[in-house]
Amino acid sequence: MTCTFRVLGCSGGISQDLRTTSFLINDNILIDAGTGVGDLTLDELRKIDYLFLTHSHLDHICSLPLMLDAVGVNRPKPLIVYGIAHTIQALRSHIFNDVIWPDFTKIPSLEKPCVAFETIKIGQTVSVDHVQITALPVNHSIPANGYWIDSGEGALVFSGDTGPSKEFWEAINSNINSKKIKNDRTQDYLQHLIIETSFTNTEQELAKLSGHYHPESLVMNVQKLNSLCSIWITHLKPDEAPKIMQEITSCLEQSQAEFQVQSIKSGQVLKF
Ligand SMILES: [Zn+2]
Ligand SMILES: [Zn+2]
Repeated sequence: MTCTFRVLGCSGGISQDLRTTSFLINDNILIDAGTGVGDLTLDELRKIDYLFLTHSHLDHICSLPLMLDAVGVNRPKPLIVYGIAHTIQALRSHIFNDVIWPDFTKIPSLEKPCVAFETIKIGQTVSVDHVQITALPVNHSIPANGYWIDSGEGALVFSGDTGPSKEFWEAINSNINSKKIKNDRTQDYLQHLIIETSFTNTEQELAKLSGHYHPESLVMNVQKLNSLCSIWITHLKPDEAPKIMQEITSCLEQSQAEFQVQSIKSGQVLKF
């Protein structure tokens, strides 16, 4: 069944009208829980059954404690939070530690908690409500992952936060190839790639240190992609968004790459 993918937040920072990373698939699967989650109504928040996290950095998790507080006890079942071991351990130790925030795995009771954590491994696929979600390897300043999200009719990839990573592009291309054989389709099974670029070319040292892309490294890597899907840029630093996009465009022109790249916007809805 076709999935809808709604952008709640896609900025590398906050200010008026800018929200950090969060996407809603259909009406009950959340990918990351940045400040964009705060724009959902209580009814929309109550419907969320699953949250897939890319990593434990604050701009991707900050709305999780608050959404549990807002709707957790009024839901018939726990919100299930998926993440790699490092992400889940970080949440337990540093957020839900009864210091920064109450331990919602015991609220209102151990038997019927508001939240349950599930650890996933890189390469593992989890199936929720007919959507298959696979954790992809990436290269960030802390352990992190991206996601290959498969509706059964097509796929969307979200990189999360990452710098250059050979493994990321290999994993995507290998999934594209296996789908080509299985589905015998001439058109691309992968329909959308949402990939981060956080810094400008002049900040490339900072990009390298913090595990993020800058335009030159992105354009060099994106040419490994074995698909002509739509490419959407996310996680642009608020102050520099137009400059980063300009630099990506001119790097693409210089490399004579065929790819069409645009920045993704809050409120946008993709289908796949
Ligand atoms: Zn990060
Ligand atoms: Zn981030």
